[in-house]
Amino acid sequence: MHTAQELVQLEHRYGATNYKPLDVVINRGEGIWVWDVDGKQYIDFLSAYSAVNQGHCHPRIAAAMKEQIDKLTLTSRAFRNDQLGLFYQELCELTNSTMVLPMNSGAEAVESAIKAARKWGYYEKGVPEGLAEIIVCKNNFHGRTVTIVGFSTEAQYRDGFGPFTPGFRIIPFGDPQALEAAITPNTVAFLVEPIQGEAGIIVPPEGYLREVRRICTEQNIAMITDEIQTGLGRTGKMLAEEHDGVEADLTLIGKALSGGFYPVSAVLSNKEVLGTFQPGDHGSTFGGNPLGAAVARVALKVLVEEGMIENAAKMGNYLMSSLGEIDSPYIKEVRGKGLLIGLELHPEAGGARRFCEALQQRGLLCKETHDHVIRFAPPLVIQKDAIDWALEQIEPVLTN
Ligand SMILES: *Cc1c(COP(=O)(O)O)cnc(C)c1O
Repeated sequence: MHTAQELVQLEHRYGATNYKPLDVVINRGEGIWVWDVDGKQYIDFLSAYSAVNQGHCHPRIAAAMKEQIDKLTLTSRAFRNDQLGLFYQELCELTNSTMVLPMNSGAEAVESAIKAARKWGYYEKGVPEGLAEIIVCKNNFHGRTVTIVGFSTEAQYRDGFGPFTPGFRIIPFGDPQALEAAITPNTVAFLVEPIQGEAGIIVPPEGYLREVRRICTEQNIAMITDEIQTGLGRTGKMLAEEHDGVEADLTLIGKALSGGFYPVSAVLSNKEVLGTFQPGDHGSTFGGNPLGAAVARVALKVLVEEGMIENAAKMGNYLMSSLGEIDSPYIKEVRGKGLLIGLELHPEAGGARRFCEALQQRGLLCKETHDHVIRFAPPLVIQKDAIDWALEQIEPVLTN
């Protein structure tokens, strides 16, 4: 058996250094818990950036995956498989959608939506070829492909990776007037996160998405919500856009769509936009494969049947109000929705990283986002006693 230190050294020696993880080497997970190779137990307060909303190694999802693995894993879309149609139907019923495009990673879902919106713009809206514009927000995070980082406002995500795909305009987040002002006859879509996760859990003003919906409808542009992080129960609703009572024209989900077992993402859409795709327009070897579809079907079922979405709302309120009661000179603001919570520190606190390292020592795994925000996003199965225990660890770290 290798020691934790040896395993870390192997990563340093052979791995690309595009991440700087906490030095905790995990080899087992169950529900909200993970264990490192030395047997130390932690609560996971990150949930793989909300990809394990259902908790680690959920037994029903694991069983479905094992069963499907012995039957059929991949046919490619050259042939049909017996899981895909059922996956579409169940996903549409749960999200009130009418059409689905299955992909794998979140970034692929974003890229697919960009292609669909552009094609819709040219073929349905009549935008002159080559001129389509998509409006995006400052501090957005939509993934890491060249096109997507090309419209990031984060210097590090872009630097050294150009030239970039043209056709994007950037406006401030949470500002409907800015959206209205940026629209031109060539605008085909507005792409937005209901809450900006990677930017530091930035919650827009109340009613923002309702205003966005109104403007997009009036101006005939496709509203695209990136719910890859906010979706699937994380904020206490199946989709975060439900808090505003709106439906986007395209909604992107990924991450927890498989409960963290396998990369599965999807573009949910009305027929008008995705309906412009013709056979051969777009594709993916693994997108819609029977293993991913079988896993996602059960991952969705357990979210609903085991009450995880309601639990996220209830436990999220409890965690957020309890964090708000901590009397600490370091805390600037606590914000979020459901179990997607950001705790912003004053710059004088010296950065969030050292607090995350102190919490790791106490058995709580979380990650700083940008320099001054700690994200608290445990699996949606967390119960009050575990939150109370976590608070007993968080409070001393923030008050010492
Ligand atoms: C994680 C994330 C993505 C990218 O998903 P990948 O699976 O890492 O490609 C896109 N948008 C949002 C909002 C995300 O949180």
